[in-house]
Amino acid sequence: MIVAEQKPLEQIRKMLAEHKKVLAVGCGTCVTVCFSGGAKEVGILSSALRMSSGLDGEALEVDETMVQRQCETEYLEPLADKFAEYDAVLSLGCGVGVQSIAQHLPETRVYPALNTTFMGMPTEQGVWEERCQGCGNCVLHITGGICPVSRCSKQLFNGPCGGSQAGHCEIDEATPCAWQMVWERMGALGLIDELMEVQPPKDWSTSRDGGPRRIVREDLRLPSEDEDYGEDTGDDAAEDVA
Ligand code: SF4
Ligand code: SF4
Repeated sequence: MIVAEQKPLEQIRKMLAEHKKVLAVGCGTCVTVCFSGGAKEVGILSSALRMSSGLDGEALEVDETMVQRQCETEYLEPLADKFAEYDAVLSLGCGVGVQSIAQHLPETRVYPALNTTFMGMPTEQGVWEERCQGCGNCVLHITGGICPVSRCSKQLFNGPCGGSQAGHCEIDEATPCAWQMVWERMGALGLIDELMEVQPPKDWSTSRDGGPRRIVREDLRLPSEDEDYGEDTGDDAAEDVA
């Protein structure tokens, strides 16, 4: 899941300072599961904003709503009339949700109530840990299901650094050494020989270095209006449109 946490209340108050009527919008997926942007958190934050602004003599009107997935505009469209009633939107979605609403409402200020932090998982009640950085070229099959990109502090690919101590990473005792875990896991699977095989350098062109990434699935795309639907128009250029 995408893991996020709420910004400090004072920071949110400051962002909203110039507004009088704000719609707080939660998201029903990842941020609900990690307890940062679900219906309960929207309710608590909205109440806190109303109370704190009231105490300061600023009557900030904050209403609440939920969207199943802010990152898909089809879920935003039914709220068009509602959005029009407010002079700002406070999104409790992840950064993708905030941008999705901002794109959907070009004339409305949209503010992030959360700090989107990582892709991860809960490891115990109240604790989430990073597990993937979306490098676009997954190597988990080589490393025993343990990600060296997100779990090794130095993103090493050829074994532990000299700071690995008794299974802990040198950055802090609470952080297990990813490469110790890789070694133990591959050993338990009887795959040490496979682990010792020399791998080619990782292709990072699929990662952030190449700019904003995009996946295009031609098998899922709908034909655009310009596309050829099968009739021979005699216009070769039109038939080449992807
Ligand atoms: S190797 Fe890349 S895609 Fe696979 S888990 Fe790690 S960061 Fe994510
Ligand atoms: S101690 Fe382990 S996890 Fe930490 S940087 Fe070194 S190899 Fe990576």
